[in-house]
Amino acid sequence: MGKPTGFMEYARELPSDRAARLRILDWNEFHDHMPDGKLRQQGARCMDCGVPFCQNGCPVNNIIPEWNDLIYKDQWKAAIERLWKTNNFPEFTGRVCPAPCEGSCVLGINEPPVTIKNIEQSIIDHAWASGWVVPRPPAVRTGKKVAVIGSGPAGLAAADQLNKAGHLVTVYERADRIGGLLMYGIPNMKLDKRQIVDRRVKLMEQEGVAIVTGVHVGLEVNVHNLLRQFDAMILCCGATKPRDVLGADRKPVAGRKLNGVHFAMEFLHANTRSLLDSELADGKYISAKGKNVIVIGGGDTGTDCIGTSMRHGCRSLVNFELLTQPPATRAPENPWPQWPRIYRVDYGHEEVRAVFGQDPRQYSILTKEFLGDDKGNVRAVKTVQVQWTGTNGKIAMTEVPGSQREWPAELVLLAMGFLGPEETLAQQFGLQTDERSNFKAEYGKFATSVEGVFAAGDCRRGQSLVVWAINEGRGAARECDRYLMGATTLP
Ligand SMILES: Cc1cc2nc3c(=O)[nH]c(=O)nc-3n(C[C@H](O)[C@H](O)[C@H](O)COP(=O)(O)OP(=O)(O)OC[C@H]3O[C@@H](n4cnc5c(N)ncnc54)[C@H](O)[C@@H]3O)c2cc1C
Ligand code: SF4
Repeated sequence: MGKPTGFMEYARELPSDRAARLRILDWNEFHDHMPDGKLRQQGARCMDCGVPFCQNGCPVNNIIPEWNDLIYKDQWKAAIERLWKTNNFPEFTGRVCPAPCEGSCVLGINEPPVTIKNIEQSIIDHAWASGWVVPRPPAVRTGKKVAVIGSGPAGLAAADQLNKAGHLVTVYERADRIGGLLMYGIPNMKLDKRQIVDRRVKLMEQEGVAIVTGVHVGLEVNVHNLLRQFDAMILCCGATKPRDVLGADRKPVAGRKLNGVHFAMEFLHANTRSLLDSELADGKYISAKGKNVIVIGGGDTGTDCIGTSMRHGCRSLVNFELLTQPPATRAPENPWPQWPRIYRVDYGHEEVRAVFGQDPRQYSILTKEFLGDDKGNVRAVKTVQVQWTGTNGKIAMTEVPGSQREWPAELVLLAMGFLGPEETLAQQFGLQTDERSNFKAEYGKFATSVEGVFAAGDCRRGQSLVVWAINEGRGAARECDRYLMGATTLP
C-alpha cells in the first residue's frame, strides 16, 4: 500500500468529458485524459484492503490493488506488466466497461470508490504512447491449427491467447471489418475505431494471427468443411438476434413494418461503416437529422442510439423505458458488493439534457402501436403508461386506464436487447442449444456438443459485456489448448 492515508486526503476525481454541446459536433472520443500527477493521487486512494473485492468484482480478475499502488509510485511499466497478466485488451475495457469492480470497491461502502476503470485506461494508453506495446510472436509453433468464428472481444481474446500458446489461429468474420460490436456496435465517440480497435488488430496480425473478413461461416463456407481444415474451432458469434416490440398476442405491434422503424443495430452498424468509409459522405446510413426520434429501450444500446442521433442533429429525442426509474442510491435488496442498480446519467442522456434542456427518459411506458402517414412512413408512436406491482421475482405489469398518448416520431429505434445467436451455425453443426437458444457449453469448460468445437462470449452466455467476452475467450482458449495438447499453461 503506497499511501496509507490516501483515501482520506484525496477525493474521487475523474477527467472531465468534453462539453456535451461541443462534442456532439464530431465523432471523436468524448473522454479527456487526466494529468499523471492527479492520476497518482487517485491510485493512492486504494486502501489495499485485505480481501480485494474489486478483483472479484472484475470478470477478468484484474489485479487492481497492485496496479493502483504502482501508479501511485510512478512505476508505469510494472503496472502494465501486471495488467497484461489478466486482460488482453485493457484499452477496450478501460473505455467501455461499466466497471463492476468499482461497485465492489471496499472504499465504496462509505466513500466514492477508487477510479479503477480510468486508471486502467491510463496505464494502457501510457504503454502504447511509450512504445511498450510491440508485437511479441510466440517463440515456438505447435503446428496445431484453430479457427475462431467471429471477431468480437471473445474471438479476439481467444485468438490472442491461442496464438501466444503457439497455435496457428485464423479468425473468420462475416463483416468487412474486425472487432464485432467493438467495431460496429459501440460508436466511435465511445471507442475510436481507427486509433484503438484497428491498432490492436494490426498488432495481432503482426504477431501471426490470420484474419479473414467478409466470410459468413455456415452460409458461404460449410462449417463441416471448414472444421476438417483445422484441429479445433471456437465459436464467438455473438448474440445478434434482436428483440422486437411485441403485443399481448406475442406478434409485432401494429405498424412495425412502417418506414423509419428500425432495430438499433441497423442504425448503429450503418452509421459507423459510413463514417469509416467516407465520413458519412456516401449517405449509406439512416439519418436522424431534423427528425423527432424515439428510442425504445435503455442500456448501452439505447444510449448509443441517443448519442448517434444527437450527432446527426435530430429535432427531438425521447427514450422509452418499460420499467420504473431506478433509485438514486442502492435499494436494501441491492447491497454492496453487488453491482449498484441505481439511476445514472450516461453520455447520451447528458447530451440531450445539454441541447434540449431535459432528460430524454420516460419510465413505465409500453409501446402499443406505430402510426403511419399515407406514404407508409412512421409519424407517431402510441403508448400507454404502466404500473408495476409486487416484489422481486414476482412483479406484474398493468396498464393505467386513460393513459394513452401519441408521440410524434419520424424515426424509431428499437433497443430492447438480443435473443441469442442466429440459428445457421447451430443447425448446420447439429449443436445443442440451451433454453435461451444460446450454444450449449458449460462455463469453465466451454466445450459444445460437437467434438473439438468450443463456444465463448455472447453466443454462449447471452448478451453481456465486453469484459465477460474477454473472460470467456480466454477460458475457451485455455480449454482448447488443453484439448489439443493434453495439458495447458494458459490462465
Ligand atoms: C450497441 C451496443 C453497445 C454496447 N456497449 C457496451 C459497452 O459500452 N460496454 C460493454 O461492456 N458492453 C457493451 N455492449 C455489449 C458488448 O459489446 C458485447 O457483450 C460483446 O461485444 C460480446 O462479444 P462477442 O465477441 O461475444 O460478440 P460480438 O462482439 O457480437 O462479435 C461477434 C462477431 O461474430 C460475427 N459473426 C457472427 N456469426 C458469424 C458467422 N457465421 N461467420 C462469421 N462471423 C460471424 C459477427 O459479425 C460479429 O462481428 C454493447 C452492445 C451493443 C449491441
Ligand atoms: S475490466 Fe472492467 S471490471 Fe475489470 S478492472 Fe477494468 S473496469 Fe473494472
